[in-house]
Amino acid sequence: MGKLSIIATPIGNLGDLTFRALWNLKEATVIYAEDTRVISKLLSHYGLKKSVFRLDAATEIKKADEIIARLEAGDHVAFVSDAGTPGISDPGGRLVAHVRAQLPEAIIEAIPGPSAITAALSIAGLSTDKFLFLGFLPHKKGRQTALKDIAHCTFPVVLYESPHRILKLLAELGKFAPQSRVTIGRELTKMHEEVLVGSPLELADRLEKKKGVRGEFVVIIEAVK
Ligand code: SAM
Repeated sequence: MGKLSIIATPIGNLGDLTFRALWNLKEATVIYAEDTRVISKLLSHYGLKKSVFRLDAATEIKKADEIIARLEAGDHVAFVSDAGTPGISDPGGRLVAHVRAQLPEAIIEAIPGPSAITAALSIAGLSTDKFLFLGFLPHKKGRQTALKDIAHCTFPVVLYESPHRILKLLAELGKFAPQSRVTIGRELTKMHEEVLVGSPLELADRLEKKKGVRGEFVVIIEAVK
């Protein structure tokens, strides 16, 4: 029986790959990746040449059957998403569930490492004994309810947001939770990493003044007591 390694990869800085992740990528018979180009860059940075197959959200179940056949043949299969920890707002969860259901005897191991949530929380300077992670808010249905829930939450709420929508999110937070304190972790682990703290509207103002809102964002909202 083979083994499935679910491997966390860097969220920007290629130096953040763990030794164990590197060893497993090297040892794996085959690697499945959300985007083969992204993983190829990482593999070539570490001088590895491997076969990589695509497994993205649209093909997760179909490819899971292929992976099950490989595991039955005794392969060591590695799975990586584009960045960070697979399954966290990324493919991986349905793959693991499918393998567990179809092949309970298969070994599925976590190779932990970077994730934008933990990176942001670690430098936010908040009490993080308890937090609510909501990932990306729904674009339409359920968005207003989620914003109301955020406004009423008594502990920090962590969101992921894209550069195209960050100003819209801040404007909405300005309406639903104007008094809240927002911490934004932008471009974490990368050259232009920054942490911005303020009310939703102050932060919207600061980001608007920058030419084009670029980068990747983790947004943490906490009620001001
Ligand atoms: N699986 C990933 C993880 O463990 O963090 C998250 C994948 S999700 C598709 C991508 C989102 O994570 C981005 O839109 C952004 O909100 C956040 N993110 C990823 N890398 C980041 C970084 N370097 N700085 C800030 N946020 C980041």
